[in-house]
Amino acid sequence: MDLYEYQAKDLFHAHGVPVLPGRVVTTSAQARAAAEALGGTAVVKAQVKTGGRGKAGGVRLAGTPEEAQRAAAAILGMDIKGHTVHRVLVTPACDIVEEYYLSFVLDRTHRTFFAMASVQGGMDIEEVAARAPEALARVPVDPVSGVDAAKAAEIVQAAAFPAEVAQAVADTVLRLWDVFVAEDATLVEVNPLVRDPKGAVIALDGKVTLDDNAGFRHPDHAELADSAGQDPLEARAQARDLNYVKLDGQVGVIGNGAGLVMSTLDVVAYAGRAHGGMRPANFLDIGGGANAQVMADGLDIILGDPDVHSVFVNVFGGITACDQVAIGIVQALSILGDTAAKPLVVRLDGNNVTEGRRILAHAAHPLVTMVDTMDAAADKAAELAALTCAKGA
Ligand code: GDP
Ligand code: MN
Repeated sequence: MDLYEYQAKDLFHAHGVPVLPGRVVTTSAQARAAAEALGGTAVVKAQVKTGGRGKAGGVRLAGTPEEAQRAAAAILGMDIKGHTVHRVLVTPACDIVEEYYLSFVLDRTHRTFFAMASVQGGMDIEEVAARAPEALARVPVDPVSGVDAAKAAEIVQAAAFPAEVAQAVADTVLRLWDVFVAEDATLVEVNPLVRDPKGAVIALDGKVTLDDNAGFRHPDHAELADSAGQDPLEARAQARDLNYVKLDGQVGVIGNGAGLVMSTLDVVAYAGRAHGGMRPANFLDIGGGANAQVMADGLDIILGDPDVHSVFVNVFGGITACDQVAIGIVQALSILGDTAAKPLVVRLDGNNVTEGRRILAHAAHPLVTMVDTMDAAADKAAELAALTCAKGA
């Protein structure tokens, strides 16, 4: 789960990472009042779960409460990379002498954690990383020994922080590591970490990704979740305990078992090349013991996706026999009735396949095409999707 800047900074504060106080508001009048309470000058910042807010005009400096109100009016409702701004953070304006970058990340490729640090932080850090990778220090962190004072000093030295701030940055590194471990994060990032005219080091921005698999250890994290920032189809799937991920193609995919569904995505993407570039529209694993209701829930979500033009149901009967799956599909279609208005290609194989295919053939649902092999079924699903796309459906 990704957090908003204000939530990330709340966690930072709880672990002693220096941040400035702020207030989250939803109207420009509230932004004005918040700026007044701060004593006039303020920074008004869009709260959306994407970077690049500064460049998009979503971060504005306001010299007076009136300016804060105008800034909030301009930012609220703004679209930043597909995210609509519903809330802004009003926070004291800070004089910046230098902007740094600091993060801890889980690096799955190297199977370890990395600290990343740079004295060239700010809005162009991606550009720095691409143009002058040596300016972004990457220090591996052993998950067992973690970050102690010596490791923090190593990180500070690797990025060549100026001597005047070295100690303050090292303290921040330790506290940020504490956030990373104590909150079970897979990413904590501060960009910019700034040095103010008094020499203090402050986290002006914060990005945190929490590891949802550790959610059971953090009942307090539940309140950080907001369905507003989530894809509505993913939210519906989650509410029904379905493993669903929205993708950007046109062929809906349902299968049983994560491995089968992943290979189905590949096969659909490959088959789709011959049909005008049709691609999978989602990942959906209905798991091993898929009954009719689970199949109906899955189909309901996929058919409710306006991007979907055909659906590929790919089931390999194992613990759940194919006849049960076939009954599930038939019942699901009758539960959904007229809402099931897109062509379905069904491929059944494995345990009790003959009976499964017989049940589907007997039902003879007008939307269902049965295809015996995975490759041929993917091809058929892509072809049908391309056909309805071409009709402008
Ligand atoms: P991002 O663009 O989404 O990463 O948003 P940031 O919170 O990092 O803000 C972008 C830029 O706005 C920062 O790099 C700073 O240069 C500037 N900025 C943010 N907060 C302040 C502040 O309090 N004072 C000043 N002077 N500049 C700020
Ligand atoms: Mn930033």
